[in-house]
Amino acid sequence: MAIKLHPSIDKGLKPGAKKFKGGTLTCHCATEPVTVSIKGNVAHNHACGCTRCWKPAGAKFSVVGVVGKENLSVTANEQKLHVVDSSATIQRHACSGCGVHMYGRIENTGHPFYGLDFVHVELSKDKGWAKPEFAAFVSSIIESGSARPREMTKIRDRLKKLRLTPYDCLSPPLMDAIATHVAKTKGTLKA
Ligand SMILES: [Zn+2]
Ligand SMILES: [Zn+2]
Repeated sequence: MAIKLHPSIDKGLKPGAKKFKGGTLTCHCATEPVTVSIKGNVAHNHACGCTRCWKPAGAKFSVVGVVGKENLSVTANEQKLHVVDSSATIQRHACSGCGVHMYGRIENTGHPFYGLDFVHVELSKDKGWAKPEFAAFVSSIIESGSARPREMTKIRDRLKKLRLTPYDCLSPPLMDAIATHVAKTKGTLKA
């Protein structure tokens, strides 16, 4: 049996809808759930092995994508949200009732990803979200306690089979975007 990584990727990945209009994320609370409305689709959706992203119980990875912050709005029970760690680069807004992270926001205007919010589309029943494209911070699942070092080859093989190329940082295009931003800030790279 294939090793389980995350409920939304274990059965294989379905491509997203071309003209997807967006949808609603709902937290796990049975009553008075927090809801977040998103306009349009997510970009850079990926499996993430880091120790900070929210993931469902038993999952080795989170699945997380980004949306422009202007396309995200909290539509119900916002008072239940709190910031998990205000010193973190990504301020993750979690529900105080169920612990689910509804969105993560970068408040540092100098950050390469400023303007993007991080969201988990598995919180939505709407169909058509862009599928995950790669796996980031794979080695970190050892650190999070989700995997033993000796399982890693099997886990990377499974990710490759799902066409989620495993990286131990972000994907090359995203690492290039960060480096480009830094180089422009420093003046090493002229526009
Ligand atoms: Zn909740
Ligand atoms: Zn992460």
